[in-house]
Amino acid sequence: MQPPDEFGLIKRLFLPLTGGDPAALALADDVALIDGPAGRQWAITNDAIIAGVHFLPDDPADLIARKLVRVTLSDLAAKGATPKFLLLSAGFPKDSRLEWLDLFASGLKSDCGQFKVLLIGGDTVATPGPLTLSLTAIGEITRNAALLRSAARVGDNIWVSGSLGDSALGLRVAKGEVPDLTPQHADYLLERYRLPRPRLALGRALLGLAHAAMDVSDGLLADLGHICDCSHVGAEIQAASLPRSPSAAALFAMGGYDEVAILAGGGDDYELLFTAAPAADEAIDRLSVSLDLPLSRIGRITDVPGVTLLDPGGAAVRVARRGYQHFGVLAP
Ligand code: ADP
Ligand code: MG
Repeated sequence: MQPPDEFGLIKRLFLPLTGGDPAALALADDVALIDGPAGRQWAITNDAIIAGVHFLPDDPADLIARKLVRVTLSDLAAKGATPKFLLLSAGFPKDSRLEWLDLFASGLKSDCGQFKVLLIGGDTVATPGPLTLSLTAIGEITRNAALLRSAARVGDNIWVSGSLGDSALGLRVAKGEVPDLTPQHADYLLERYRLPRPRLALGRALLGLAHAAMDVSDGLLADLGHICDCSHVGAEIQAASLPRSPSAAALFAMGGYDEVAILAGGGDDYELLFTAAPAADEAIDRLSVSLDLPLSRIGRITDVPGVTLLDPGGAAVRVARRGYQHFGVLAP
């Protein structure tokens, strides 16, 4: 028997503990939603990051803190929620230096200011293992307004913000694997890996406009698979329409890269993937202009189960990688 992947594990181990409470969204969405006062809901999410998995052990301490804040707020952005509070659990290696810890706190402070969130609790421990951090973010949103993974409809167009693959390429830059790239492109890709930008303004603007939404953290195809599963639909994606930055294009032009695998399955993008009725196309194009953020129409929701990637001739494209798998089992 094939071992369960990360999501199989979550279903098997943790889903029974939700007691079927609707707040949990069946452990299949980016957040939990708890009813609050005055027609509001609290959107709550937790993310963990570990040295050597989500960032490089030698990355600057302030940037590690800021990446943690940003990947966590990205889940709130995906629902259209407004971040309010954070709780931090920090497992610092026993031999951490005070100077390093101060720099970590300065990064945290800077992003708490930028995103207008307050740190209201947490836990601090020493670990014999690598630096391990977990952040809970609490945001608020109008009751029943959140953009859910389960709300895609057949006939919707599929959109993605910004550009894909930059972060996966930035990791290669960080590892010194692409020495020939110009410093300008290298810096851009590196920043995309180290400092993702939670698309909070976009998420809020999509309320009432989009149907389903989620943030792309594991890889476009794997994550779109979650929207399809939750919404009981399928999807077709045009490989040629996947948005790439000028820096990614410059790197691809050097040759030796499986472009589609990186764009469609690279991971760590923290862009928003959303679906909307074709009638919303013009409003979304206008939103792209007003937010100064590219929004690309990359495919459509169908009634055929599964996520299919198509080449310009309409033939299915096979990809080596559909997304990051923590337990090493590739998504179907
Ligand atoms: P995301 O990538 O958006 O952060 P994940 O893929 O990590 O989401 O998780 C999918 C779902 O499973 C979420 O609803 C999350 O809250 C839930 N989940 C993941 N790990 C656990 C856990 N250890 N206990 C309870 N719920 C979990
Ligand atoms: Mg998410």
